[in-house]
Amino acid sequence: MQVAIVKYQEEKQTLRKAIEMCEGLKDLKRGDRVLVKPNVVAAGSRKIPPHGMTTSPEVMTELLSILKDLGCDRITIGEGAIVLKELKLDTNRAMVWSGLQPVAERFGARVCDFNEGNFEEIELLGNEIEVSKEVFETDFFINVPVLKTHNQSVVSLALKNLKGCLSFKSKKKFHKMGLDDMIAHLGRRIPNHLVIIDGIYALERGPLLGSSLTVPHRFDLIVAGTDILAVDMVGAEILGYSIDDVPHLKRYGELSGREVRLEDIEILGERLEDVRQPLEWTLAWSQHILDEAGITGIHFPAPGISLCSGCGYTLFVGCANFALNAKGRKFDKVYICAGKDIEPRADAKDVVLLGQCAIEKNREYKDALKVKGCPPKSGEVTKCLEQLRAIG
Ligand code: SF4
Repeated sequence: MQVAIVKYQEEKQTLRKAIEMCEGLKDLKRGDRVLVKPNVVAAGSRKIPPHGMTTSPEVMTELLSILKDLGCDRITIGEGAIVLKELKLDTNRAMVWSGLQPVAERFGARVCDFNEGNFEEIELLGNEIEVSKEVFETDFFINVPVLKTHNQSVVSLALKNLKGCLSFKSKKKFHKMGLDDMIAHLGRRIPNHLVIIDGIYALERGPLLGSSLTVPHRFDLIVAGTDILAVDMVGAEILGYSIDDVPHLKRYGELSGREVRLEDIEILGERLEDVRQPLEWTLAWSQHILDEAGITGIHFPAPGISLCSGCGYTLFVGCANFALNAKGRKFDKVYICAGKDIEPRADAKDVVLLGQCAIEKNREYKDALKVKGCPPKSGEVTKCLEQLRAIG
């Protein structure tokens, strides 16, 4: 198992060097259908550059240029970004925000929105899971995640990036059935011919740019190889995490029936110890928004891995908009619950249940303020929080 680590330099063909080192395109044939899966998880604010949250136009430009040079004319860029009509979020917006839409147009690559259908059903842990057919119909699959930490999966690299190939419905099932296990099982079913981690920027306390917790750092690294576990392990190590720190990597190793140790991976190019820059990850989701606004007495425990990404996004926005107008207010023992696992503490005076999962989990709280929806709308989350009685 070989994994290349190369320092990224603009217009110096460093991606080409990384791919050559790990012989990442040796099985690609002229005329093959190529599917490139970047990480373009969602569109963000126009005021914030997408650094570290989505795969960069720089890496995609160099990759598509290499593929064109090799005679590949049937290139598809596939992604299924978060869709929230209320916030005007969809794959198209995410592709534009990330800067990848112009790259696709420049190289004549087709963009496939995985949310739009044409799925193949596969069974994972007794669940029917819908995966875009594109994934199985391509000749060559290239997985291009970003080097980032993630509040639900510690790191989000190539294995986690595969979740973007699912239908929205199946993504929700992943959170219900156990995110780490499902990611590992999905990874066993999708053939990855080449994995390239875009580490031009690395994201600390990811995944959501716009949160004050989340910080992009310029790393200028490319990590590439053909073994998804080995590449993810090296990416995680750069961020300061071993395979034992990342449950979905560990599980994938177990399912593969091989005990992969870092020492078994031949690292080419840069030395790992020279490029390792540990970054923090945190489970925190929205409590810090309230704390930073000086709002006291409202407890919003991190919902953990059971919260779907769409729900996480709307709660974050809904909570941030509430905090804007409630700066410095005092409340008394308010508990906000979201996701499938969180219950209010016994001493709660007011309970807020956000989303269908929290409502079902806490049926006995008849007097709770509730926002229905799966996911709930951010505007309704804000309105609901505005009904809370302040004590100061
Ligand atoms: S309510 Fe939220 S966490 Fe629950 S299934 Fe719907 S989107 Fe997922």
